[in-house]
Amino acid sequence: MREAPIRPRIPCPHCGTNMRIRKSQGLTPVYREAVFECRNENCGWRAKASIEFTHTIAPSDHPNPTVRLPLVPRLRELALSQAAANA
Ligand SMILES: [Zn+2]
Repeated sequence: MREAPIRPRIPCPHCGTNMRIRKSQGLTPVYREAVFECRNENCGWRAKASIEFTHTIAPSDHPNPTVRLPLVPRLRELALSQAAANA
């Protein structure tokens, strides 16, 4: 069973109010740059952020061949032990 999706909540480091993404631009399939804006009008902080997928936790059923990310260590060990068992 899959976990229910959760809406990411990213608090402003200055006032703690949740921030919103004002715009984001995908530079590669696994890397985006975004501008975050604090929702607290009395704070008004804005920041640039980068969002990068770093590891595969569960493989895709529709993999994009250009996306090559390392598996999380637990999956890597599982793949290696299965490969050794099938050798
Ligand atoms: Zn703020």
